[in-house]
This record gives sequence, C-alpha cells and structure tokens, in this order.
Amino acid sequence: MEDSATNGHGVVTAVPASWNFEPNETLLGLPALSVRGVLTRVMAGMLPDGGRAVVRLGSGDPTAFPCFRTVPEAVDAVASAVQSGQYNSYSTSVGLELARRSIAQYLSCDLPYKLSPDDVYLTSGCTQAIEILCSALARPGANILLPRPGFMFYEARAIFNGMEARYFNLLPGNGWEVDIDGVQALADKNTVAMVIVNPGNPCGNVYSYEHLAKVAETARKLGIFVIADEVYAHLTFGERKFVPMGVFGAVAPVLTLGSISKRWMVPGWRLGWIVTNDPNGVFQRTKVVHSIKSYLDISSDPATFVQGAIPKLVENTKEEFFEKTIEILKRCVDICCEKLKGINAITCPSKPEGSMFVMVKLDLSCLEGIKDDMDFCCRLAKEELVVVLPGCAVGYKDWLRITFAIDPSSLEEGLDRLKSFCLRYRKPTK
Ligand SMILES: *Cc1c(COP(=O)(O)O)cnc(C)c1O
Repeated sequence: MEDSATNGHGVVTAVPASWNFEPNETLLGLPALSVRGVLTRVMAGMLPDGGRAVVRLGSGDPTAFPCFRTVPEAVDAVASAVQSGQYNSYSTSVGLELARRSIAQYLSCDLPYKLSPDDVYLTSGCTQAIEILCSALARPGANILLPRPGFMFYEARAIFNGMEARYFNLLPGNGWEVDIDGVQALADKNTVAMVIVNPGNPCGNVYSYEHLAKVAETARKLGIFVIADEVYAHLTFGERKFVPMGVFGAVAPVLTLGSISKRWMVPGWRLGWIVTNDPNGVFQRTKVVHSIKSYLDISSDPATFVQGAIPKLVENTKEEFFEKTIEILKRCVDICCEKLKGINAITCPSKPEGSMFVMVKLDLSCLEGIKDDMDFCCRLAKEELVVVLPGCAVGYKDWLRITFAIDPSSLEEGLDRLKSFCLRYRKPTK
C-alpha cells in the first residue's frame, strides 16, 4: 500500500505504508552507560541563575581554566606542523612513522626494554583506542573482564560489539586494588582480556609495582592479556609514582592505551595510541596485531597535522609544565578531601593519589527525602548548580564521583554548596 504526500516543496511523493527501519535497541539502551548520557540527565532540570555560576565537578575536562592551559611549546608544535604544508595528506592506517617513533621513544623511557615504532598504533584519542580494541577482540562468545567501579565506555563498546562484559571488584578499603581472587573466579576459556585503569578513573588509585606484578601473574595463569588504560600516566601526586603495566610485558602481554589528552591538557586534539608491550611476540602468534591492523584499515585516523606535531610536542615540553600541573592537582585534592571530611552523609574511603577523580560513598540513611545517587545529583544540580556524577554511571550505585581538577576557588565554592545541600536534607536526629 502506498499513500501520497507532498514533500514540502509541493512535489507529490509516494510514501510506503510502513518503513523498513527499526531502531537498534542495544544502541538506545547505551546512554545509561555513558558519562555524557548520565550528565545530560543530571543537568536536565538545571535553570540558569544570574547570580551563581555552575560548578562542574562532573566530567574530567579542566582545560577551560587558565591554570590548566596547555604548554605553549605544544601549541607551537601544532602551528608549525600546519604551516609546514607537509601534513595535508591522508595518514597511513597505523599512523605516521615519525609520530610512532616519537611515542615509542617517549614510552620506552619507563620500560626495561625498547619499543619499536611498529609497536605503536595511533588513534583518535584513547577513546578510539578502546573502540578499536573492543571491535578487534570481539568474536562470538568472547568475554572481557572489567573493573567495578569503572569507566563505562568499555562496557558500552563491548556490548555494542556483542562481547560479554564481566566485572571484578576494586577494593575501596585497599586503595582500590584489583580483587585478584574475583578475577580468577570470573575467567573461562572465552575470556580474552582484563582491563585495568591506572592511575584510575573513577577511583584516583595508583597501583604499586607489587600489585601490578600480581595482576600480570594472574593474567599469565589464566592465559589472558592485560589492557592497561594509562591515559592518566604520570598524573600522580601521592606517595606512589606511576609504574607502566608494560614493565610486565614479558610475564603477560600488555596492550597499553594512552593519549596526549590528559597529561598535555588537550583532549580536543584527539591523539592517542595502542601500544603492544610484548617482548615474547604473543600478539603476533595469536594474530592480535593482525586483527588490530585489519580494523585500522576500515576506520578513520587522527588528524595528520596533529600526528606531525608529536615529535616536537614531546621533545619541547619541559618538565616544569608537568610539575606545575601536579602541584595544582595536589592542592585541589587536598582541598577536596579536607572539605569532604566536614560533610555529613559523605565518606571518602581512599584519598586519590592520581588522575582527576575521587569516589565517595553516600549515606542515604542520614538524608531525608533522597531516593538514590541519581536523585541526589539531580537535586544538587537544580538547587545548587553543582554538577557531580552519580555512581550509577560508573557501575557503583549510591556513590558519587567528584572531579577535583578544576580551578581551586571554584572547587571550594562547589564543595561548600555541596555541604549546605547535605545540611538542608539532613535527617533530624531524635
Ligand atoms: C579520558 C579517558 C579516556 C579517553 O581519552 P581521550 O584521549 O580523551 O579519548 C579513556 N580512558 C579513561 C579512563 C579516561 O578517563
């Protein structure tokens, strides 16, 4: 059956009685699994207020604040790459040789062996690196082990590719270390890999050498490899220094993911990488590298001029820039944990030593009229113009993830408003 209708230009077109399109239900269910999707819901009821600025402690992008501006050398590197006229062409699938060489050298400084440019695959930020791995590793029946709480983008990409996501716990009383027994209990012959995020999002954990060694031994025993999300590499401000998982590449093969987004404060430049840390050549034998390369042939590449800028960006950035960032983050985390101590209904089990986030527990039993973490965050946004991420967005209901990487005075303001909010909803004690 066909109807007739005009198409708005007065032209009569044939319209079928029904259309063949049906929505992909998997895709429609994904907003609950993305930080952006959840924050959109949190902010939906927020109205502009002439007097007060919105304090955004929800997502991790501090680049709007002058104290987190990138280093001029990085800007110069991109400008001169554009001006040279040498980077107007398409890239190769794996990325430009000069940029891969530079990343290989940069990362080799922290490893007991040398990476070659062929170990490096350039991607459009760490986000695309995750997307590529979750596509390249998915085969019917495969499963992947993910941390809880975690960065839900892994789950969203795994599910979208038909891969099963299984969860092991991070232990809040133990600096958010991996529950190793839990990992062993979850794995079977269809498990392809386990993911760790270090320094951690959302927990701010920094893992010790000994703990990473245990993770590597466990992966070896299970015959799976480790995906190490090190997008916050070197953003540490506690006792522990950052140790790359690649140090243990000879124990169990490691796919290291990273980008310039966080350390250089340029998430909009979209340059990241997948690196094979595998001195024993396991990824060759098991055709993991072939899968990655095949996938790269059918996906898009990071902008060629940003790739062209990488050698200068890496070489010319001085240590002082990184030190300054760490100094501010340290100040922020101190302010954050100090202020949180004075808020009823909120407890912080573990002070962050890295990244930009802290996970805190919400005690709903001392608040009146608040249903759950989502309700808490929606009311907080509406009433105090403070945006915080509900734990449900990181797989941890009735907790909150707070971003402390913002300018210190806004951070103080935001946490003061959080405190008066909690006081207002405090359940009267008899
Ligand atoms: C920010 C972030 C990413 C994405 O990094 P981009 O380089 O900006 O794409 C990946 N993993 C984690 C844990 C992150 O926090």
